[in-house]
Amino acid sequence: MTAVQARPGRVEVHGVHKSFGTHEVLHGVDLVVEPGSVTVVLGPSGSGKSTLLRSINHLETVDRGFVALDGELVGYRRKGDKLHELKEKELLRQRTRFGFVFQSFNLFPHLTALENVVEAPVSAQGRPRREVEAEARELLSRVGLADKADAHPRQLSGGQQQRVAIARALAMKPAVLLFDEPTSALDPELVGEVLAVIADLARTGTTMIVVTHEIGFARQAADQIVFMDDGRVVEQGTPAQVLDDPQHERTRAFLAKVL
Ligand code: ADP
Ligand code: MG
Repeated sequence: MTAVQARPGRVEVHGVHKSFGTHEVLHGVDLVVEPGSVTVVLGPSGSGKSTLLRSINHLETVDRGFVALDGELVGYRRKGDKLHELKEKELLRQRTRFGFVFQSFNLFPHLTALENVVEAPVSAQGRPRREVEAEARELLSRVGLADKADAHPRQLSGGQQQRVAIARALAMKPAVLLFDEPTSALDPELVGEVLAVIADLARTGTTMIVVTHEIGFARQAADQIVFMDDGRVVEQGTPAQVLDDPQHERTRAFLAKVL
């Protein structure tokens, strides 16, 4: 397997608050993700994990606090002491530095696996199709799908579709990969093949933030585990610290349910 190119990807989340209407769902989240590291976010349903991920690449606009990627504010620019929202075009450029893998794959159904991977680098980044295609074939082979380049999503299993989605995210050469419960929609027997691909990427130094309930994966792949509950980071540390020696009752209660 060829190494994923080393790109910085330091994510800093500072004092982030986010409300939907009058309902505040993030109550001041702080998080630092070092380049090349893997952060696993655990927490009960409704605790704000997806909102946090979506805030990181500015799919949600935060109400207070900020997110920075390699020291650059995400979604905003500072003029004097005021924050100004970025123009759509600048925002899109910034957003391509994040790869996002969703629970529900979201492949284009009318395109083949190869075409799904090729689409964004060609249309959004304006890169030459021929060059991108060669890279896309390499990426498909990295996720174990060299022989499925010409298959349409409906001809692929859920696990295969999710691996295409991972190859598609990698094709944009993101600095950071965000995964939102990437195996939650899969039949149990297909979870392992997807986790293996993600763990493989982790070993090659891709910066990743992974929301998952897969504790075994977290233990094996995470540099840092963050436990969220009710819109707050309750506890964070190494897998050994958080999984084997949790300091908070809420962490213990959650782990007792999922372990
Ligand atoms: P998790 O991913 O941990 O399950 P979410 O971030 O999806 O949690 O949701 C956190 C809370 O925010 C939940 O109460 C959810 O109902 C609410 N929420 C999430 N997205 C929206 C939205 N677009 N509009 C209104 N409420 C939302
Ligand atoms: Mg979620």
